[in-house]
Amino acid sequence: MKTIGLIGGMSWESSVEYYRIINSMIHAKLGGVHSAKSVMYSVDFAEVEELQRQNRWEQATQLMIDAARRVEAGGADFVVICTNTMHKMADEVQQSIHIPLLHIADATGVQVQSCGIRRVGLLGTNFTMEGEFYKGRLEQKFGLAVLVPPAEERAIVHRVIYEELVVGVIKETSHNHYRTIIDGLVCAGAEGIILGCTEIGLLVKSSDSPVPLFDTTQIHAEAAVEYALHE
Ligand code: GLU
Repeated sequence: MKTIGLIGGMSWESSVEYYRIINSMIHAKLGGVHSAKSVMYSVDFAEVEELQRQNRWEQATQLMIDAARRVEAGGADFVVICTNTMHKMADEVQQSIHIPLLHIADATGVQVQSCGIRRVGLLGTNFTMEGEFYKGRLEQKFGLAVLVPPAEERAIVHRVIYEELVVGVIKETSHNHYRTIIDGLVCAGAEGIILGCTEIGLLVKSSDSPVPLFDTTQIHAEAAVEYALHE
């Protein structure tokens, strides 16, 4: 079994999910008292959030490179960045380490493709919904048509992530907003919805959507386990 390197803390609410999913899956596959070999470096999300909000992406990139190097030095065989947004600098991180980085959009693209879906809705932070690093990758590498909600709905999705989900707050009003926004994407032609933020799965469940949901936390954690055991 390879040692999984996790860069966590973005936010820790979702890092806990990664840790739980990875260990329960290793146990399900190997039985007995097996658990995952892993190293996690967990950042202070306040530092990351401030750099994002102020568009200080060069410093944010340095912070992620530093985290990845710590994980590599800790004995990891590959790196998993436990957030979608901070894949904005995935290429720079990969170039700064000697072990592979398992990209969250690639793991997700494979899953969406394998369900025969071509038009997919994307929910996440504004950085993820509006930047090319994520949408562009899904479109170019996997031939998907990626739909995002209109600007005023993107603002709601983004605000709920930063003001509620990253601090473990789950509100019925936000749940209802997300359901309405998902319905809108489906009306616009989405055949599936990517939960492209690692905390959204804490608020939205498959029963909230008329089309399949692709929870990036679950998909990325599962991909890490497959890679640790087989590749
Ligand atoms: N966990 C979220 C994501 O998957 C947002 C936190 C962050 O900005 O990294 O994008």
